[in-house]
Amino acid sequence: MNTNETSRRDFFAAALAAGAAFTGCTSGSGSAGKGGLQDPFTGETDPLVRPSGEMVKLLSVDGEIIEVDKAFLKPVPDLPPVSNTEARLGIPGKKFVMVIDLSRCKNTKRCQASCNHAHELHPGQNWIKIYPMQDADHTAPYWEPTTCMHCDEPPCVKVCPVDATFKRQDGIVLIDSDRCIGCRFCMAACPYSTRVFNWEDPGLPEAVAKQPYSCESSVPQKKGTVGKCDFCADMTRKGMLPHCVSACPNGVFFFGDMVEDSVTNGAETFRFSDLIRDKAGYRLMEDLGTKPSVYYLPPVNRNFPFVNEEEKAG
Ligand code: SF4
Ligand code: SF4
Repeated sequence: MNTNETSRRDFFAAALAAGAAFTGCTSGSGSAGKGGLQDPFTGETDPLVRPSGEMVKLLSVDGEIIEVDKAFLKPVPDLPPVSNTEARLGIPGKKFVMVIDLSRCKNTKRCQASCNHAHELHPGQNWIKIYPMQDADHTAPYWEPTTCMHCDEPPCVKVCPVDATFKRQDGIVLIDSDRCIGCRFCMAACPYSTRVFNWEDPGLPEAVAKQPYSCESSVPQKKGTVGKCDFCADMTRKGMLPHCVSACPNGVFFFGDMVEDSVTNGAETFRFSDLIRDKAGYRLMEDLGTKPSVYYLPPVNRNFPFVNEEEKAG
């Protein structure tokens, strides 16, 4: 199993750089030439690039873990806005996947707070839910965060009468609120109870409410439509981690790409297949045939004792 220490944001910046700016790279670390730093990929010396001395590990396009000087990381440019028609297609060559490590969850709810904030949800509405779980009377309780499972066989998509909810080629299931008629068939069909209905106006600031709806950011939410976890499709398009992954102080959430066979929580990176095999990963309600894109690692050797503050408060 490969574990690599990188800074939280750098992994995806680096991964994107590996995929775009460094296409064709194999390995290398970069060395200081006479007039600057030698690019580890092209061998050329750029007089304007000075070594920072800070090395970062990233996944090359050949699937190798390589180390490069941070000075070679290029900022991700602002991408032009994606239309909702383009958003329906998804990102070619990707299959996004999430792994939730139940042994690390302490119910801090930072994931939930950052998700609510990023998606401008109505106060009291949550797309991420964290449930206290206990499998039997004599077994230990634990916390279980839940998101949309981004099923590969999504019952919600099959029942939508107006094609408002859809599955993309990269595995993400999204909702087009402009098409949604609020019939809630999808809510009834989802076995994971992940969808929520906007019974009330979300009470957004005028500037946000006036924005054209984006299928990828799911903002602005609208009264009379359904919302749910969107795997932060706008962030993944930019090569960044979903908000819940970045916000969790305990590294519970891992996100990545099954095609690259790599997942990260921003601090640790694993081969997805190794992680799932070595830690006995599983999916919820496997017998239903929904084929979720979210995997769980069992709550063994837990990092924190289970304390239910809400129960204690009465
Ligand atoms: S509530 Fe909206 S997304 Fe859900 S099934 Fe009805 S139209 Fe489709
Ligand atoms: S978890 Fe529910 S809402 Fe999400 S894709 Fe699966 S069936 Fe649809």
